[in-house]
Amino acid sequence: MNPSTASPSAPAGRPLASEPAQAAAKPLAPAPAPAGSGVPTQTAFGCPRMFLENRFVYVVVSPRARGLSVCVNMNPNKQCNFGCIYCEVDRSIPSSEAHLDVEVAAAELTRTLAFVLSGQLQQQPFYSAFPPELLTLRHVSLSGDGEPTLCPNFSEALESVIHVRARGRFPFFKLVLTTNATGLDLPEVQRSLKFLTKQDEIWAKLDVGTEAQFQTLNAPEAGITLEKVLSNILLVGRQRPIVIQSLFPIVAGLEPQAIDIEQYAMRLKELKAAGAQISLVQIYSATRPVVSRQCSHLPLKALSRIAQIVRLETGLRVEVY
Ligand code: SF4
Repeated sequence: MNPSTASPSAPAGRPLASEPAQAAAKPLAPAPAPAGSGVPTQTAFGCPRMFLENRFVYVVVSPRARGLSVCVNMNPNKQCNFGCIYCEVDRSIPSSEAHLDVEVAAAELTRTLAFVLSGQLQQQPFYSAFPPELLTLRHVSLSGDGEPTLCPNFSEALESVIHVRARGRFPFFKLVLTTNATGLDLPEVQRSLKFLTKQDEIWAKLDVGTEAQFQTLNAPEAGITLEKVLSNILLVGRQRPIVIQSLFPIVAGLEPQAIDIEQYAMRLKELKAAGAQISLVQIYSATRPVVSRQCSHLPLKALSRIAQIVRLETGLRVEVY
């Protein structure tokens, strides 16, 4: 669900898979995603994404991570059951990868972590001016050009990242699943979530407080309702702390109305009252050109006002990005 991912194609002649230890020794260099990868610009909400010659794994300096996020694109085919008005994935461009190859992704992850943690990323021209804290690895993210829980090999992918961590070659890293929450109740997903540690996090999308807004802003597939999203957030929020991700854009020149923000805050309040452990609400806006031209960035002042309403109504911890 994370709108901050994309799937590059593998240039002809490039090895598609390699044994992780060998892969880790291979020098990497930032490379833009190949043309036709579905990435209109190499950014994730304003931050450039670097694929480092990978097909499925890329790095991005992430404001919400407050540093570097290494991401696995769980949906290289861009499959999503939402059609968010602010989505930055251009689905009019054909995908260059049909599915996630978990073995290749695990090798890429190993190689990329070695590259990042050895300080080589900072030596790259693009990153040389970045302060070290922004190039500090904050987490490994399961995200994608679509909804990660729709990935047919979701469990295999999650377990492979956990396996990379368990091998102990790298210092412990947090795993973050970014999701639109619609698949959190799937039996396979529920089973896999049990493998997460307390430090790992689930970042679930909730942008609105009414069904009408949900249909307008998130444009889900037929049959998916806001009630379903809320119910799944509650399901997981009762099992473990959950982070809510909320994006507020300007749509057709209009800021969100007061009534919409009130309703959104009410849904959070209800989730909390019903037992959802919401550890953080992340409030932000689209910061780069998105596919839809009617959608643009909501100023920080307005985002801060929304955050203040949520704090007052719910008592939850809220951060603005
Ligand atoms: S959930 Fe929305 S923003 Fe995320 S990939 Fe799907 S359509 Fe795009």
